[in-house]
Amino acid sequence: MGIEIIVVGAGVVGLAVARRLKSIGHEVLVIDRQPRAGMEVSSRNSEVVHAGLYYPAGSLRGKLCVEGRRKLLDFCDAAGVSVRKTGKLIVATTPDEVTKLDAIASSASANKAEPLQHLSGAEAQRLEPKLRCVAALLSPGTAVVDTHQLILALQADVENAGGIVAFNTSVTDIGRDDAGAFVVETKDAAGATSRMTSQRLVIAGGLGATELGAKLTYGGDYRVPRTYPAKGHYFSLSGKSPFSHLIYPVPHGAWLGIHLTLDIAGRARFGPDIEWCDEVSYAFDDDDGARRARFEAEVRRYWPGLPDRALQPDSTGVRPKIYAEAEPIADFAIHGPEQHGVDGLVALYGIESPGLTSCLAIGDYVASVLET
Ligand SMILES: Cc1cc2nc3c(=O)[nH]c(=O)nc-3n(C[C@H](O)[C@H](O)[C@H](O)COP(=O)(O)OP(=O)(O)OC[C@H]3O[C@@H](n4cnc5c(N)ncnc54)[C@H](O)[C@@H]3O)c2cc1C
Repeated sequence: MGIEIIVVGAGVVGLAVARRLKSIGHEVLVIDRQPRAGMEVSSRNSEVVHAGLYYPAGSLRGKLCVEGRRKLLDFCDAAGVSVRKTGKLIVATTPDEVTKLDAIASSASANKAEPLQHLSGAEAQRLEPKLRCVAALLSPGTAVVDTHQLILALQADVENAGGIVAFNTSVTDIGRDDAGAFVVETKDAAGATSRMTSQRLVIAGGLGATELGAKLTYGGDYRVPRTYPAKGHYFSLSGKSPFSHLIYPVPHGAWLGIHLTLDIAGRARFGPDIEWCDEVSYAFDDDDGARRARFEAEVRRYWPGLPDRALQPDSTGVRPKIYAEAEPIADFAIHGPEQHGVDGLVALYGIESPGLTSCLAIGDYVASVLET
């Protein structure tokens, strides 16, 4: 008979899916290749609980972000996960950027995000005296979350409800038996292989999702979305943060720009930049100091007082994008039988930002696709 549902991936998304499936009475096994939960995309991000401002109306990213934010804040409150309600300023540093603020305000309202406040440059500076801008939008509902605590709290909910989370277990192949069950082959850290069957399967493999999805055979002209890794570097600020809000420039296409985020302890980080890569690597590349110089120039557009050499290399993260650099921005691709024709399978591709914010809403959405 095998397992009822296997979820591949113990990042925030796979765990949120498993948590939801357990809460409605299913038997769930979560499998991850890493030794602990959330070690890939979920622990290398900006930790921002987004308000749902930038995404096209009607997109899954917009809908699941707005729904997910509410669910996440309630969950964190109940589970004792630290959240810091910083608010966020999106700043126009030149007069021609002001129209972009208007466009963000319209898309936020179309997404039914919490209302934004329009501020003049002087009003923004009253809130943040070290900021330079000609106008700003204040998003009071944006916050930061302790992702480490969040990951552990999600895992605890799955396990306390009787779900199993297996680590150091790589999925090496996926097939189907004669009865239509999924046959999942795995290899553990010692190289031992095993094979298990499940009635239903969720692929929440982040950067590994395309490789996993491509192991199955589909009918018609369905194609598994390709993943294009896009690395982002963060620099931390030595010394006290000059700002108490998160500070974002206006976005440049698919990229939100070099923004300032604060962690739960109030430490300031700048980033992430964007570097489209052929393969996943977390190396921090700045041997010649050119990256730091680019960051300094970007940050000084809104914080002219950034001291020389105050930025220290911090960390990197890799976005699992499903569109190439020159292509239009893609929505989250959450594919069920309607898209790929395989009963019992939900596969998630391109779960980049705001996937952290949206994780609990994604969990509910995936469960509803599996139930239909
Ligand atoms: C630089 C950056 C900044 C971001 N900032 C924000 C932000 O501020 N706010 C926000 O809401 N979102 C943000 N995001 C997006 C957010 O981090 C992701 O959407 C979210 O973490 C995705 O979670 P996941 O569970 O899908 O992926 P992951 O956390 O990567 O989980 C996938 C899991 O699948 C496992 N896996 C993969 N292949 C296999 C295999 N073959 N066998 C077994 N296991 C496998 C991996 O080990 C991994 O643990 C950011 C992302 C990046 C990269």
